[in-house]
Amino acid sequence: MSSAITLTGPAPSEAVLTPFRSPGGHALMLGHVHPDADVLGTLLALGEALEARGWRVTYGGPHPAPAALAFLPGIERYQQLHALDGRFDVAVLTDCPNPERTEGLIDQARRAAATVVNIDHHPDNRRYGDVNWIDVSAAATGELVYELLVALGAPLTPPIATNLFTALHTDTGSFRYSNVTPRTFRTAAALVQAGADPAFVSEWLYERRAPDALRWLGAALGRVEVSDDGRVAWLILPSGSVPEKVIESEELVNYPRSVATVRVACLFREYLGQVKVSLRGKGDVDVQRIAAQFGGGGHPNAAGCTLAKPLAEATRVVLAAVRAALAAAPGARTR
Ligand code: 5GP
Ligand code: MN
Repeated sequence: MSSAITLTGPAPSEAVLTPFRSPGGHALMLGHVHPDADVLGTLLALGEALEARGWRVTYGGPHPAPAALAFLPGIERYQQLHALDGRFDVAVLTDCPNPERTEGLIDQARRAAATVVNIDHHPDNRRYGDVNWIDVSAAATGELVYELLVALGAPLTPPIATNLFTALHTDTGSFRYSNVTPRTFRTAAALVQAGADPAFVSEWLYERRAPDALRWLGAALGRVEVSDDGRVAWLILPSGSVPEKVIESEELVNYPRSVATVRVACLFREYLGQVKVSLRGKGDVDVQRIAAQFGGGGHPNAAGCTLAKPLAEATRVVLAAVRAALAAAPGARTR
């Protein structure tokens, strides 16, 4: 496509629908690094709907799907990709704000695909597609793909409903965060009506811990530190301190966030010689702006970045940026 189309409205326009109206073709469902349920659930749901219409679909991304999401219907089709093979009529990226989060696969996809479709809800989305549907008011990309499937007249099968419901469930912290709107609940209701089972999803997400997981959780929580003024809490995990599997399945940054006085919570995780930082806020400061200072991104209340620095230095510079942001935010007093 020669000129890119960008949409920000709440409903998918014809430009978004057109690439999927074809009665068949080969689609690439391309995931981002460290894929979560929002990206995986949406790629699997849209992919299944296309397959039902006679398309051939390839699912994959730079990293494998985490074991904790093994219950998503069709997840066994999602492969770790190092290079792309063949040509595609459409390459779809969901929940992926910038091309760097595909570790170079987007550049190959641009050459291998006639049309790149970018569907996302991140405010810092770079509009890298031929068609861009960015709706920052959506709590999850799952809401957008639900609307896309409805507009296409695609049947919502129980596997599709489960994938999209899980996307909503995880991106909203089980329907608890400030991104939740009536639209989120309306979408969730329709998905449950279509066969998603909330108890099944919750059980897989929260009640499948390994026998030793609570001991590791205890070890991790023992590392939480809170600033003297109570406004910042953080958790530092040197490599090897807690098993990767536990970190992947526990959303550990939610624990420092749960302290009443805390306005910004941080997780510093030493990982493959770098430091992966997760930031969470409560509406006082825009943590995405803090992450952006270090080349990262995300949402106003949930963001992240990766620093190629020693753990102690990464911790120091990010906490300094958090304190500076809090000092500049008059409303961020201890409550
Ligand atoms: P998490 O802390 O759960 O890894 O990520 C929270 C949010 O921040 C997600 O929306 C994710 O897209 C974003 N995020 C996390 N790490 C990075 C990063 O290294 N770079 C960018 N651009 N965004 C990130
Ligand atoms: Mn998302």
